[in-house]
Amino acid sequence: MPHKKRTIVAITVLLIVVVVFLGYGANREVQKIVQQQFNEQQLLLTRQSATGIEAFLEEKTVLIEVLASDASDESPEDTTWRFIPIYYRSSGFYSIEFINITGVVVSGYPAEDAPIGLDLYAINRSQAFDRARDRRETYITDPVPLFGGGFGSAVWVPVYSGDEFKGVILAIIRMSTLSDQFLVDAIPEGHGYMYMIDGSGRSLYDGVHEEMIGEQYIGSFFTNDSSYADILRDQMQEKEGTGYYFDKLTGKRQVVAYTPVVWRNRVWSVATSVSSREAEALIHSVYRKQILFIAIVVAIILAGSGSIILIFSGWNRELEREVQRKTGDLRRSNTELESANAKLLELDRMKSEFVSMVSHELKTPVTSIKISTDVLKSLSDSEEDARTKEEMLQIIDRNTKRQERLVSDLLDISRIETGNLKLTLEPVDLYDVIRESAGSMRKIADKKGISIIMDLQGTSPQIAGDRDRLVQVFVNLIGNALKFTKEGDIRIRARVVDRHPEIRVSDTGIGIPPDELDRIFDKFHQVDSGLTREVGGSGLGLAICKGIIEGHGGSIRAESEVGKGSTFVVVLARAA
Ligand code: ADP
Repeated sequence: MPHKKRTIVAITVLLIVVVVFLGYGANREVQKIVQQQFNEQQLLLTRQSATGIEAFLEEKTVLIEVLASDASDESPEDTTWRFIPIYYRSSGFYSIEFINITGVVVSGYPAEDAPIGLDLYAINRSQAFDRARDRRETYITDPVPLFGGGFGSAVWVPVYSGDEFKGVILAIIRMSTLSDQFLVDAIPEGHGYMYMIDGSGRSLYDGVHEEMIGEQYIGSFFTNDSSYADILRDQMQEKEGTGYYFDKLTGKRQVVAYTPVVWRNRVWSVATSVSSREAEALIHSVYRKQILFIAIVVAIILAGSGSIILIFSGWNRELEREVQRKTGDLRRSNTELESANAKLLELDRMKSEFVSMVSHELKTPVTSIKISTDVLKSLSDSEEDARTKEEMLQIIDRNTKRQERLVSDLLDISRIETGNLKLTLEPVDLYDVIRESAGSMRKIADKKGISIIMDLQGTSPQIAGDRDRLVQVFVNLIGNALKFTKEGDIRIRARVVDRHPEIRVSDTGIGIPPDELDRIFDKFHQVDSGLTREVGGSGLGLAICKGIIEGHGGSIRAESEVGKGSTFVVVLARAA
């Protein structure tokens, strides 16, 4: 079992390691993907702004171009009134002017923002004008500071009537309109900002560093070798992409997504700059969920393996208990078997003893009878032989009786054991039974010089009993007392204790060892002693006595002290 536990623990640890390892790998993967997605999203946002800006600028440009083609046949003065509806309907124009073929601003709207009379050639600013005229196509110039503040980008649209050059319509678009519409609110406050640069790296708009507008980032704001400078260079090369730089001012790593804004001959670049913490926050939220997931998986693994161990331990305990129970059962049945075996052996031994003893006991009187008969046959009718004849006849008589007794004892014990001992119960005077029994033994007692003293107390109890069988019991007890007593006397004491007649037959004989006191009531059991062998006997007497007394609802026991004598106590059922 501990082996199994170890295996489960090892598998658990392995599973946890695998889960944590996979989780770690997945985390890195997720980090990469989230970062990528985040950058992608920033780029998308940037593109969206760029597309908006492009559409806005294109729309303004086309408006002016349409205006230019419509106005090609009109005089410059007549064209001006056309500026007004465009100026008002379409937001974003700072001013719309008409420059005649000599490069002089001749009209414009609103009048206060149009430098009427300004000669471009005189101030040496005719470059864009010349270019629009010569190439006969719209020309855009990078934003310049406006009189009223802010920056404006100029759209130069040549006006041709056939091949005749009529002048140039110059529309100045406010950069602030552009940024207000597409850049300022593109990123929610506090989450980052947008900026836009022109092809030379000059800031056209900056959501946080307003002071930078109109300035070069590289060199002033960032050193040439900074990572931000790399990003800016990419932007200037009209590239699209994402990059990182470390903002020393805020102490944050910034993610920049940039994309070009193409407006005719101008290519600008718009970018979003967002703290990388935005992405990290996203990653961390995914991390937290993943860690929670891993923790749950680990907890499930631990709980699973824990319960498996518990179940195994439970099974194990149950198994151990079962084994213990079964072992106990086995031990018990083993001891039962052992004792049964011992009993069987004892029974077998007793049977063998019984057979040999019964054979012996039966054979002895038969032999005596045979010998006596043979002697009788050889005797004559003479007076001399008459005495021997008498003796032989007595021997035959004694042995016949002995044989009779033995057979009757065997029959009795067999009846007792099979429960077939029939007792004919009738009212019996107990003391009378005792007196009769003692009387029948008196002759033998006298012969041995032993007196039988009777002490029958009170009035004789009247009991329901089988008189002959009771006589048989007392004769047997007195007979045994006489057999095992060489000198002294035999006392028979009878009294009623608590309405139970109690008869004690005591002798002053050899006594019985304490460990034999119970066993002498077993059939054929004899205490092994010289005297026992000498006096003979079958070992059936006490067993029959016990059977008879118990058949009367009484009990019998022996008390003794070796060398001093024995007492057999019979207690009968309550007297009537
Ligand atoms: P047995 O025919 O051998 O006397 P019992 O059943 O009457 O058979 O007695 C069994 C044994 O008990 C006797 O052999 C003897 O060893 C012992 N015993 C019985 N009565 C006495 C007694 N009064 N004193 C000593 N031993 C006795």
